[in-house]
Amino acid sequence: MDPADIIEEHVADVAIIGAGLAGLMAARVIAAAGRSVVVLEARGRVGGKTYTRLAADGTPIDLGGQWIGPTQDHIEALALDLGLKTFPTYDTGENIEIRQGERHQYTGAIPTADPQVAMATVEMLLELNLMAQQVPLATPWTAHDAASWDAQTVQHWMESHVQDSAVRILLTQVVRAVFSVEPRDLSLLHFLFYVHSAGNLNQLVSVTRGAQERRFYEGAQTLANRIADALGDRVLLDAPVRMISQDDMGVRIDAGDTLVTAQRAILAMAPTLAGRIRYHPPLPARRDQLTQRMPMGTVIKVQCLYPTAFWRAAGLSGQVLSDEDALGLTFDNSPPSGQPGILLGFMEGDAGRQWSDSDPATRRALVLTTLEKFFGPAAAIPTEYFEQIWAREEFSRGGYAGFMPPGVWTSFGADLLTPCGRLHWAGTETSPIWNGYMEGAIRSGERAADEVLAALT
Ligand SMILES: Cc1cc2nc3c(=O)[nH]c(=O)nc-3n(C[C@H](O)[C@H](O)[C@H](O)COP(=O)(O)OP(=O)(O)OC[C@H]3O[C@@H](n4cnc5c(N)ncnc54)[C@H](O)[C@@H]3O)c2cc1C
Repeated sequence: MDPADIIEEHVADVAIIGAGLAGLMAARVIAAAGRSVVVLEARGRVGGKTYTRLAADGTPIDLGGQWIGPTQDHIEALALDLGLKTFPTYDTGENIEIRQGERHQYTGAIPTADPQVAMATVEMLLELNLMAQQVPLATPWTAHDAASWDAQTVQHWMESHVQDSAVRILLTQVVRAVFSVEPRDLSLLHFLFYVHSAGNLNQLVSVTRGAQERRFYEGAQTLANRIADALGDRVLLDAPVRMISQDDMGVRIDAGDTLVTAQRAILAMAPTLAGRIRYHPPLPARRDQLTQRMPMGTVIKVQCLYPTAFWRAAGLSGQVLSDEDALGLTFDNSPPSGQPGILLGFMEGDAGRQWSDSDPATRRALVLTTLEKFFGPAAAIPTEYFEQIWAREEFSRGGYAGFMPPGVWTSFGADLLTPCGRLHWAGTETSPIWNGYMEGAIRSGERAADEVLAALT
């Protein structure tokens, strides 16, 4: 950068790149420890993959991360500290399952009307949960069967271990719902690590007593907004970092017309985003190669608003699991009052890939036709429509999170957390607990902050 182009210059003990929950949490801990900190954020807002917009009547609409659940203690503690409250997700009435051309209604966690399929499903979940418990969370590559589990995809395991086609469909839907990828994309070892990281599969897929249990009254981005408000002018927006240099004296971060020098830096973003930055000297080979090997999932999150949650009167929960629709998973996302009624739908994995670049009117028409098929004619005429295509966000490149295809944990696992000189790594992808979730992001920020504070003293 030509020095004449620099308009803003900052000096701090620590520079943090990325004002998602991970980066902001790290900044909060570092500031509380009495160290100076500057956060550089590429977007014109904080929150990263949490993003809350307001409907015309002021109802908060979460277009990114939204739910929290049991055992997510760090986000719970943070919310308490920030004075933010949650309410339970609507989870009453019958769910709809559309599978192999048939429509069923059911209650409970296992979506099947056939008792034999239900039994085979329970057996598979049990087996996967037991395997997951054998993956050490801090070092998944040291699991006894790591080499074999990381050499295969979930698809491969499913084809050799699951006979019943209905159970295979269900596992495919679980992979889409939890990772927004297809079973053929995902290392079995990563799948098992992730399950263990959240506790177990039931915890991951359940609403009540699971990861989808509660939502924030004011929307999930409020967590980031409140932390950023407290940090004030230490958070720099519209500052996309393009180049990071380090030497014996410190770190120098170039973000367009902003320059920050610091003792240490935390990169608080998914590895694939860190891979888009230039480094001087270049990153160690293994770290750079890791950033080439952790793609993001593909998800479109859609919400339709109605005057009331009319499906409730028909005894429906709003939850649909369909194997034949691009909008394969829906929930009732209404506020506690039930007004407006809000249906939330996801297009994940292949469906996300197919529809992310489509013409908006065609995509919207597809969503409304599908909701009409699920819930009747009233679903075709929403009063408002929101969608967020995460794969088209330059500074997210997809969601829910970065994942590991086969071979990555066993070849590069140790590089996920290892600092490179003065550079430290945060982001939900680095968390051994609730990896991929807001909880994981917060924990990763705390861990990286502790790492840096120890290095500074
Ligand atoms: C549709 C969707 C639904 C989800 N639902 C849930 C849910 O219900 N519950 C849950 O717990 N989790 C959910 N998640 C996941 C959750 O949102 C993420 O795990 C979490 O927000 C990640 O936080 P982070 O700080 O690690 O990363 P991010 O939020 O991605 O933050 C990284 C930040 O770095 C910035 N950045 C990137 N590159 C640069 C650069 N070069 N210079 C400066 N800044 C840069 C980005 O703009 C961003 O602000 C969902 C995610 C999506 C996409």
